[in-house]
Amino acid sequence: SKKSLNIFAVASGHLYERLMSIMITSVMKQTQSHVTFWLIDNFMSPKFKNVFLPILSAKLGFEYRLISYKWPYWLNKETVKQRTIWGYKILFLDVLFPMDLERVIFVDADQIVRTDLQQLYDMNINGAPYAYVPFCNDRPEIEGFRFWNHGYWKDHLRGKPYHISALYLVDLTVFRKLLAGDKLRAQYQQLSVDKNSLSNLDQDLPNNMQHLVPIFSLPPEWLWCETWCSSKTFKNAKTIDLCNNPMTKEKKLDVARRLLPEWTQYDNYIHSVLNKAPVKDEL
Ligand code: UDP
Ligand code: CA
Repeated sequence: SKKSLNIFAVASGHLYERLMSIMITSVMKQTQSHVTFWLIDNFMSPKFKNVFLPILSAKLGFEYRLISYKWPYWLNKETVKQRTIWGYKILFLDVLFPMDLERVIFVDADQIVRTDLQQLYDMNINGAPYAYVPFCNDRPEIEGFRFWNHGYWKDHLRGKPYHISALYLVDLTVFRKLLAGDKLRAQYQQLSVDKNSLSNLDQDLPNNMQHLVPIFSLPPEWLWCETWCSSKTFKNAKTIDLCNNPMTKEKKLDVARRLLPEWTQYDNYIHSVLNKAPVKDEL
């Protein structure tokens, strides 16, 4: 029988819905498993939800569930939408999914997958509640932006790596058993009082909590992004994130077209499936 693969994602805005369609297509092209995408309902446009997703799911053969969770009244609120989305990535992992779901992989909308994610889904992560990839350390030009190698973060991490939050596997059974959701929310409640804290909320929080909620560090090939990783390791990448480059500020669509031949193919494919004329640049 077929294996099951469960993917968790979020998208808000036209660009990210387009990127997410491509991410979904890339996942489906690489796996034989039965795939369910768990998508956060709160931020998707009606057109994407009611028109595009049903067509894509029928065409590519995946299932999807729209999930939502009301931000608890007692938990500090975020005022910027981007930060609210980051909150949903990390703060409610114990309550977003049905209790019988044992594992889920979060994938950033702006990612391209080049391998069967089932390999990651089934990985032994030594009893940790989740697994992330440490930031690459092999692109010297960007050294000045590696804030985790200095000051507060260097002291706090005590030799543990600082991980990127674009892709992570959650063992929901272990996560719930450790009460990791409560621990993360409690720490968020403390740190979010200071507006200068948690500037990359979804990434800073799990990295900050590593001593209490351990992270299994995944091999580097699981996540490549040009900003932090060298060109030498590009060909081995299992997933690629179109992450922001603070030095060049190059647009995601430009990075995608420059770096990933399959990106344009997937984009055209989706346009044809949705019966839309291919558009050079919708934004
Ligand atoms: N996101 C979104 N809409 C936005 C910004 C972010 O849906 O306007 C979601 C999306 O899933 C995205 C994730 O938040 O993949 C992280 O943001 P992004 O990938 O832009 O961060 P970067 O990789 O540039 O650091
Ligand atoms: Ca990203």
